[in-house]
Amino acid sequence: SMPEPKTAWRLLKSAGVKYVRFVIVDIFGRPRVDILPIDEAKDAFIDGVLFDGSSIPAYGGVNRSDFVAMPDLDSVYIETWNGGKTALIFTSVMDGSRPSLRDPRNVLKSALETVKARGYKPLLGVELEFFLVKGDPPMYADGGVYFDGHLLHTWPVLEEIMEHFHLSGIGSTKTHHEVAPGQYEVNIPAGDPLEVADKVLAFKILAKSVAQRHGYTATFMPKPFWGINGSGAHVHLSLWRDGENLFASVKEPREELKYAVAGILQNAIANSVFVAPTVNSYKRLVPHHEAPTRIVWGLGNRSAMVRVPYYGGRINRLEYRHPDPSMNPYVAFASIVFSAYMGVEKRLEPPPPVDTVAYELEGVRETPRHLGDAVKYAQESALLPEEFVKPYLALKEEEWLSYLKSEGDWEKTWNKITR
Ligand code: GLN
Ligand code: MG
Ligand code: MG
Ligand code: MG
Repeated sequence: SMPEPKTAWRLLKSAGVKYVRFVIVDIFGRPRVDILPIDEAKDAFIDGVLFDGSSIPAYGGVNRSDFVAMPDLDSVYIETWNGGKTALIFTSVMDGSRPSLRDPRNVLKSALETVKARGYKPLLGVELEFFLVKGDPPMYADGGVYFDGHLLHTWPVLEEIMEHFHLSGIGSTKTHHEVAPGQYEVNIPAGDPLEVADKVLAFKILAKSVAQRHGYTATFMPKPFWGINGSGAHVHLSLWRDGENLFASVKEPREELKYAVAGILQNAIANSVFVAPTVNSYKRLVPHHEAPTRIVWGLGNRSAMVRVPYYGGRINRLEYRHPDPSMNPYVAFASIVFSAYMGVEKRLEPPPPVDTVAYELEGVRETPRHLGDAVKYAQESALLPEEFVKPYLALKEEEWLSYLKSEGDWEKTWNKITR
């Protein structure tokens, strides 16, 4: 249960927090923060923080611009990487007396309520890949390989990231050097999707802060370097009912898992703009880089869009490999959980699993080729509330057109500002 506002405030104050950073999540999944000294922040714990909605995309014009963001006191992270002087508190934006569906956190909350009202409890985890880069133009910061065991000069950065992952309460994680040079991965532990989405944002702030202190940039751009692996954000999901994992089995996948896979594959094209939302996302979704291009599934198949982890025949979840770390995790998770749930409710049958390398498969559906197509295909999707989807797609269309009109390295500039 949520702590009392006054109790939460007192706890932070006695923990030595000097500033509270109230986080409003924008439509792209970027944290916008209002920073209040701890004593000034006391009232905001009860009444929320006021903001200018005309200065955050999709909220409203200058003539109807006053909004209130209410703190979610279940979502507090002390920024230990900042010496513990500051704390992040995530908020939900109100539109008068109801939660605004322009706020992606509210979109996810309402999706989860629907699914939970039908008796399902989703458990979701995410693997986040990212690069450490340095220089101008930015270059990957080391020459490491998958599971590199040598002491790289980038290792102290990772050590510090992992330490604060733990200290700040995000949880505990393992890490390894990924396939590409300068590329690492951490895992956000499985939990309630809203909590996991908050942790994705907190983690990005943490990683960027620590990297910056060491003279590097942590980038979550999906494909910063052409010709080598990009960064994915694979989502692991199970659905539970009455305390039982509906996806758990040995050797043969259960019907419920197959229905969920079918739901995810059926909606993959329409959901693409939510899980792979940037111009750069589509540079990642190309053959032979462990990212999916064909909308198929398989047991232990890393070239398929959905992989069912299959260690010694043990099955307990599915892995959706389409998302990348430029996603707005709230919107991505809402569309993924909804798709899996619909598959289960409608008992959708997936095609047979694929056990060959999927990149060359003929006669199967493929991921959209670029953001413009992804926007177009999403217009038909009715999974998420229109109040959110309409401005989201309009802004994504604008992003695509701005790219088409641009010259030079639009993607890198865009991503420097936004990701
Ligand atoms: N980097 C790959 C991707 O873009 C995944 C590689 C892996 O985790 N095996 O999804
Ligand atoms: Mg992994
Ligand atoms: Mg990986
Ligand atoms: Mg994975």
